[in-house]
Amino acid sequence: MGRVALVTGGIRGIGESVSIKLTAKGYKVVANYCNNDQAAQQFTARTGISSLKFDVADKAAVEAGIASVEADFGPVDILINNAGITRDSTLHKMSPEQWSAVIDTNLTSCYNTCGAVIDGMRERRFGRIVNISSINGQAGQYGQVNYAAAKAGLIGFSKALALEGASRGITVNTIAPGYVDTDMVRAVPANVLEKIIATIPAGRLGTPDDIARAVLFLIDDEASFITGSTISVNGGQHMY
Ligand code: NDP
Repeated sequence: MGRVALVTGGIRGIGESVSIKLTAKGYKVVANYCNNDQAAQQFTARTGISSLKFDVADKAAVEAGIASVEADFGPVDILINNAGITRDSTLHKMSPEQWSAVIDTNLTSCYNTCGAVIDGMRERRFGRIVNISSINGQAGQYGQVNYAAAKAGLIGFSKALALEGASRGITVNTIAPGYVDTDMVRAVPANVLEKIIATIPAGRLGTPDDIARAVLFLIDDEASFITGSTISVNGGQHMY
């Protein structure tokens, strides 16, 4: 197969699992990250998958990063927008920095990365874009107006871009994970997490592999009729 796939935030948590599963299926994967050089080195040593540092919120850095991926590996046919952060606070205490950091990293990033690959995908008449949203973008969450807005924004972004890409062989879909056992969720206080797990009909947190399996399904060459969809992967916690 050998299509080139870029996974943002691809060295840890959900992104790590996506990078590993795509590699196992024969995709040439580049895993992006932003800060954690040590984790990136360990990831590459452990998996043999290339890692590449750039900040997805920085348009110029994204363009340079994607240009270097394309020079080294070939055109990016598959883009998984997975990088994300939280900066939780209730609105009345939320600083402009908390708002902007989350919007820039979780939503503007998608404009940056998609913008850097879309012309090539249109020319080649093939592309698969998967944007990782969240249950909290669908249902809202106390203390997360920034995160919920960014994650809901990804759903609208994906539907609009799906319309633009449909006649060119480009699909754009969103996955909305529920609570998944990664560093992001381990930062939630144990007593709060216990209450959250009690609301999950499946009775457990998701695993990164639960999400990666949905990514694999959506990026298949044969998944060409699935576009503009949002797939919830949440153990039954939110259905609508
Ligand atoms: P982690 O915190 O475990 O990993 C996040 C990854 O994103 C890291 O590799 C990190 O890089 C990278 N990253 C963060 N900021 C940037 C940036 N500015 N530029 C490039 N890379 C960046 O997160 P999860 O695996 O838990 O989450 C992955 C995605 O899934 C996120 O979008 C998250 O919002 C979403 N999600 C997660 C859920 C969960 O329960 N875990 C639930 C619903 C959605 P570095 O290693 O350098 O820090």
